[in-house]
Amino acid sequence: MKILVVGGAGYIGSVCAELLLDDGNEVAILDNLSEGHRRAIDPRAKFFEADLEDRARTLSILRDSAPDAVMHFAASALVGESMANPSKYFRNNVANGINLLDALLAAGVPRLIFSSTCAIFGPPERLPIDETMPTRPINPYGESKLTFEKILQWYGQIHGLQFVSLRYFNAAGASAKFGEDHRLETHLIPNVLKVALGEKPHVEIFGTDYDTPDGTCIRDYIHIVDLARAHILALKTEKSGFYNLGTGGGSSVREVIECCRKVSGRGIPSLEKPRRAGDPPRLIASSEKIKRELGWRPQFESLQAIIESAWKWHQNFPRGYED
Ligand code: UDP
Repeated sequence: MKILVVGGAGYIGSVCAELLLDDGNEVAILDNLSEGHRRAIDPRAKFFEADLEDRARTLSILRDSAPDAVMHFAASALVGESMANPSKYFRNNVANGINLLDALLAAGVPRLIFSSTCAIFGPPERLPIDETMPTRPINPYGESKLTFEKILQWYGQIHGLQFVSLRYFNAAGASAKFGEDHRLETHLIPNVLKVALGEKPHVEIFGTDYDTPDGTCIRDYIHIVDLARAHILALKTEKSGFYNLGTGGGSSVREVIECCRKVSGRGIPSLEKPRRAGDPPRLIASSEKIKRELGWRPQFESLQAIIESAWKWHQNFPRGYED
């Protein structure tokens, strides 16, 4: 197949492009490199440096690459930043997303795979979080992704666009080539591994008084290659739908740090800090629907396997891609 990966120079998009190419697909990447990195672009892919804000150029790239489907990863994705600058989130994640959808329709591209998030749910009433639970985002990031999901549904109903929206829990780990390097790193695992590498003096633990067994927040970490595999499966179904995507397991912040110590063999000093605003105590996915309907199965179910892959990548890129 011919696939256009929008945001293919970012963390998740780069690994998806790599796996699509490994499977023999033809891949083009569109990225404005605001968050993505030139070195994260698989050299086998054709690259268009462009911004979805530019409607004419977006349409011309869609016409030029004539893909069978588009995977859309290009978004702003920091909860804290979205609370300070909601305009950026609604512009990038909603308005620019509409530009992409309209270009798809104009170019006759029938299918979109969308990168959504568990942040659309807000604090859950029960665990694990399945697709029937109410969507009540508590920040503009989650709201922007939920808004785009609703727009997708209407474009499906009115224009016949086929789509699959995948709501990720905590993406982690690395492929052999590509890994996690955000310009502003707020995520737990890369921050812990930077301490292991001596790039940072200590890791901060945000909140130790949560109602969890060790007092720190619990998250469902899912390996990036398993996420990418779900996107590739989503290409193979004609049905539109929304799917939650995690491993169904939960690890606390302290468990993640301990596992990083074991994998790296380094001390990793930590400091206990107050809670970070907006962090729910526990987020765990039910992925039963995607397993049942698309036959998805995670290959990396243990936190240790996820961290081992991340540690390998961080050792190869201790200062990230730009170094
Ligand atoms: N966290 C932490 N120290 C850090 C980064 C994150 O204690 O340096 C905690 C954060 O408060 C949350 C968990 O680790 O409870 C996962 O955070 P992350 O930002 O990786 O993902 P999120 O679940 O917020 O999307």
